[in-house]
Amino acid sequence: MQNDHKDIFRQEFKKTCAQHGLKITHQRIAIYEELSKAKDHPSADVIFNRIKKVFPHISFDTVYRTLTSFSEMGLIKLVEGCGEKKRFDPNTENHHHLRCIKCNVIIDFYNKSYDKISVPRALKKEFEVLNKKVVLEGICKKCKS
Ligand SMILES: [Zn+2]
Ligand SMILES: [Zn+2]
Repeated sequence: MQNDHKDIFRQEFKKTCAQHGLKITHQRIAIYEELSKAKDHPSADVIFNRIKKVFPHISFDTVYRTLTSFSEMGLIKLVEGCGEKKRFDPNTENHHHLRCIKCNVIIDFYNKSYDKISVPRALKKEFEVLNKKVVLEGICKKCKS
């Protein structure tokens, strides 16, 4: 990441934390930056293992609670669950997911026509749709080879 980009990024982070009364600590900044770098939609224990290299004394609980607070604040997103471990998404833009059923990797993709997918009228009566996300399940390149 370029330096000026990183600055804007940190300022946004600090602003959002301040708005929600969350104290900014080195650990929290590190957790946020670790997730932001991640392309695999990691679970809390994956982030924990990465962050432990920098903060050897950090607890899993701290990492988990921090990620949960971030998602409540809208800084990051939770990947739609299916009964497994919570996965976190640093990408808050409108986007869709490819999920590998073998290695469980989740990859972002963008598609304008998926963004505009229409909701059947019968469903609209039952349910107010706030968000639409397409998840394509399959086998990733790595697992295929
Ligand atoms: Zn795979
Ligand atoms: Zn994503």
